[in-house]
Amino acid sequence: MPLLTEMELGKKNAIDLEKSFKEACDDSDFVSLVKTLKLEKKEAMKKTSKLQNALLEKKQCADCKGLFMCKNSYSGHLVVPNKKYGKLYFTYMPCRYQKKVLEHEEEDSLKIRMKDIDTKDKRQLEVIKWMDTFYENYDVLKRTKGLYLHGSFGSGKTYLLSALLNELQESKKVSIEIVYFPDALRSLKEDFDSFGYKMHRFMYVDILLLDDIGAEKVTEWGRDEVLGVILQTRMDKGKTTFFTSNLTIQELEQNLSLTKNSVDKVKARRIVERIKQLTTDLELVSENRRK
Ligand code: ADP
Ligand code: MG
Repeated sequence: MPLLTEMELGKKNAIDLEKSFKEACDDSDFVSLVKTLKLEKKEAMKKTSKLQNALLEKKQCADCKGLFMCKNSYSGHLVVPNKKYGKLYFTYMPCRYQKKVLEHEEEDSLKIRMKDIDTKDKRQLEVIKWMDTFYENYDVLKRTKGLYLHGSFGSGKTYLLSALLNELQESKKVSIEIVYFPDALRSLKEDFDSFGYKMHRFMYVDILLLDDIGAEKVTEWGRDEVLGVILQTRMDKGKTTFFTSNLTIQELEQNLSLTKNSVDKVKARRIVERIKQLTTDLELVSENRRK
């Protein structure tokens, strides 16, 4: 026999909610928030702890000097309660410091568009042609392969693909994400609060560019829990993925099989198989144009 029947349990929860709500009302900020949102008591009672959390995050923001000291649940953001169509919901909004970062990123990525690409280097032509075709044919609803673009340092891999993705974002409202892969791994590892949010973005954004894959040795975790999971989901969902690398796909396979043991080899092979299914392999070897 359960200790409490379902009905008794319901009653107990209601009493607990009422109690927490009453306690929360000792805080005048809480009371005025409930008032501003025009919440019925019943509604506010159900969301007491979430509302309190929103107040706490707001307060933490007020005392904060920069992203480095962010105490909120998702770094650089605060939970904000909002009412839409009579319903209360909570959203993550970038804080004042995070907004500056986003503006800065926006400026950077706005810089390169397809029209900015100069075509004087004939060795880039094959890639540029491929990109033109892709741009014309891309359809969010269709399964479309990206590129595994590998080749020499400074040959324009990141530059060209960024131009393509920015163009799709600006002209066709496609959601894109360009991630410098070694940094992405670091930030996923260090900032655990945003892990779920970022992974979700990497898995589901319309077009993902994993830039400079294989530039650093990954850990087992980075390979299996991050890269493997992202690629598997993107395959399942039919999402387009691009890669740039200084390594050929065979070299990447070696880079990913961290040790010589057979389990590692199988796991590296599996990742490479996914990349092959997601992309067309192209090489771009050219002069190093980096200053
Ligand atoms: P990679 O990613 O292959 O190492 P990058 O994409 O960083 O090389 O290219 C190096 C630099 O070369 C870029 O910052 C860019 O200024 C320049 N560049 C390469 N290709 C072009 C191009 N087609 N038009 C204009 N600039 C280019
Ligand atoms: Mg690059």
